[in-house]
This record gives sequence, structure tokens and C-alpha cells, in this order.
Amino acid sequence: MLSVLECMNCHRQYPANQVIYTCETCGGLLDLKHDMDWLRRTVTRELFDSRLGTLDFPYNSGVWRYKEMIYPDVDPAQIVSRPEGNTNLYPAPRLAQWAGVDKLYLKHEGENPTGSFKDRGMTGGLTQARVLGMKRVACASTGNTSASLAAYAAWSGIQGIVLFQNKQIALGKLAQAVAYGATCIRIAADFDRNLQLVRDISEKLDIYVLNSVNPFRLEGQKSIMIETIQQLRWRVPDWIVVPGGNLGNSSAFGKGLREMYEIGLIDRLPSLAVIQAEGANPLYRAYQTGFEKFEAVEADTVATAIKIGNPVNYPKAVRAIQWTEGVVEQVTDQQIMDAKALIDAQGIGCEPASACSLAGVKKLVESGVIKPHETVVGILTGHVLKDPDATIAYHEGLLDNIESAYPNRVFAAAPTVESLSEILSDSTLTLV
Ligand SMILES: *Cc1c(COP(=O)(O)O)cnc(C)c1O
Ligand SMILES: [Zn+2]
Repeated sequence: MLSVLECMNCHRQYPANQVIYTCETCGGLLDLKHDMDWLRRTVTRELFDSRLGTLDFPYNSGVWRYKEMIYPDVDPAQIVSRPEGNTNLYPAPRLAQWAGVDKLYLKHEGENPTGSFKDRGMTGGLTQARVLGMKRVACASTGNTSASLAAYAAWSGIQGIVLFQNKQIALGKLAQAVAYGATCIRIAADFDRNLQLVRDISEKLDIYVLNSVNPFRLEGQKSIMIETIQQLRWRVPDWIVVPGGNLGNSSAFGKGLREMYEIGLIDRLPSLAVIQAEGANPLYRAYQTGFEKFEAVEADTVATAIKIGNPVNYPKAVRAIQWTEGVVEQVTDQQIMDAKALIDAQGIGCEPASACSLAGVKKLVESGVIKPHETVVGILTGHVLKDPDATIAYHEGLLDNIESAYPNRVFAAAPTVESLSEILSDSTLTLV
């Protein structure tokens, strides 16, 4: 066996095919730990490059192209893949200029099959559900995890169960979970309570938990880092900037980057900058104390994908920040929605939470943490169509406590050439 589950605190090990989410001895989070000597001998840039553009399953996936680093023992016949990944890395020179850096790339994880990076985790999670012979999988979700679980469960013929909050669910995400046929349950509780409920019912009813406490999901999400750096022709950027909610992505990025470094795929580590919304900022607050003190918060932000007050992956995210000499920053809803308007207006587009990346870059440049000459990759976590209500409300000026800086109002014209001419003669608005 090339991988075991290992507690991040006390290092107790469990076989990879045990149904377990936290350490039985100390309650710590588990990592899927791979045989690093074998990886060092087996994995090369050339191996991964040789699979680029292939039509062959499973290496046509932007996750399973890196199978050796994700889940080396798994039989390809068990893999549940759409395929996912293979998302674009966009150079964004105008946004770079706005944020104050020379080189900015945006990695668009909204281009995954269900429109968010969660698909990279779900391919790992549903594959493991199949390995374990589970008949049902469940998650609590702010939205995208549900959409992704619903799709991957349906695709693999396993029953999907999703627990939603009963308010502030972005419409696109709820529609997806319903459409893909998951058992959808609305509960009058916040995300943090729903996650606890999922863990409680899973034990009782033999259901496999696919929240990001599940280490197989994080293995899949690691591929975002490997793919990004492969797209940069293995040149390591100075900064990776990512929104932080439940902190699964931040945790996965830290593990992935460190493993790439340890096996010699890269010769230095980029720094991770995790960006939280000011109204959902427990990691940021803990960072201010040098990670001495962690306190959950009551979460409130327009960016519903990161409206999480008690992130389950906190210890792994701290580790990721320490490993990469990273930082944590916070941005306001105003900054998030303005940055989103600018990303959208490039023709790229993203959902509100994703825009933390760009808003965070600007703030970190202003405070001198990111230097203008450094190369920055921002992660766009979700698709623009996920939350159409927020987009329209911003451009109509209807969001509470937000002054839309870059509105693109919809005009109304009479059905005449004169009326259209009047509008079009003085419409010279461009954003950046
Ligand atoms: C899940 C999600 C996040 C937060 O990611 P974590 O891994 O929970 O920190 C951010 N943006 C979008 C669009 C998401 O779906
Ligand atoms: Zn332990």
C-alpha cells in the first residue's frame, strides 16, 4: 500500500480503506499520507507533461493526470471522473495594473463540470465512496459542495444527500442540487450546525461524509496547485491567493505544494495568501494572534460560499500558512463586489467569494506584503452564473450597505432608432 491515513497531531495511522474522518486517539484531522520515497522515484515533470492533452481515461482529468500524487493505489476502474480540472489560467494584465502588480494570473476553477473547484474534491471523495462500497454520501453545504456532490453521486449511481441552510443559498447552486437528483433537505440552522448534523447521521445511518473534513477530497483539490504550476511550465509564482471559508482549499494547497517540493517537482515554495470576508474571518483573527488563539465567529457576508464561522480545516490551514510562509488578509463585502465587477467585466466572470482573490491582492500590494514585481496567481473558485441575484443586485445598486463602484446598469429604450442612437452616442463606459 502506497498511502495510509495519518493523524496530523499524534501521527497515529489507519489503513486508507477504513471509514474514518478524525483520529480515534486525539480527534485530530487526518491526511492521506503517501510513500514519499516511491513518489520521488516515480514522479517527474516529464511524466505529467506526457499526459497533457490525452484522451485516455483517467489521465484526461486535471486531477487524475497526477494520480500518483493523489491516490496511487486506486484501481482506475473505481475512479469517478467527469473529467474535471483542465481549467484555464488567464493572464490578466488590466487587473494586474489595477491591483498594482506586474504579473497576475487567474486560475478559473469555475470552469469545472459543475462550476466550482469542489469537483476536484468530489472526484476523490466519490471514488473513495466506491472503494469503500458506500451506498449513500452526504454533505452540509453553503451551496457548491452540494451541487458537486449531487452531480458526482448521480454520475456514479450512489445516492447523494445534501443539507442546506434555509436562507441565503445562491439560486444557481440550489437549482443544480435539485436538478442532479440529490435528496435535498433545508434546515433552519447555519452551516456549522449542519456539518455537525451530517457527521452525527453518517455514523448512525452508514452514510459517507463528503465535507472537506474528508481527506480524499483534499487530495483531489491539491491538483489545482500541480496543474497551475504545470501551466506555468513549472515556474513557481511568488504568491498563490485563495479565498478561505471552511479552509479545505488552503489546506489542500499547502499539502500539495509541500509534496511537490519534497519530491523535487519544484525547487521553491510560493507563499499562500488566504483571503477571508471581514464578516467571516476566524482565520484572520487567529492570524492576528500569531495563531495563539482561535475563536469561531458568527458569519455574515455577501459571499455565501465563504460564510463559515467555524472552519473545520483550521489546523491544516495554519500548517499550510506556516509551511509556505504565507499570510491571511480580510476584505470587506464592498471590496469583494467591486473586485467581482472588474473580473466579470474582463469577460472572465466569477461568483462573489472568488473575487476575494483579486480584492486581497490589491490590499496586500497596498500594505507592501506583495511586491509589485512579484508574480501572483489568484484562484477564482466559482462560476459567474452561480449567484445571479448578487450580480444583478450589485449592478442595480440594490445590495445593502454597498455603493456599487462599477455598475453596468441596464438601459431601457423606446423601440426606435432615435432612442437607441441617443443611448449609444454617449455610452463610452469602460471599467478597466
Ligand atoms: C467552497 C468555496 C470556497 C471556500 O473554500 P474552502 O475550501 O471552504 O475554504 C470559496 N469559493 C467558492 C466559490 C466555494 O465554492
Ligand atoms: Zn491523533
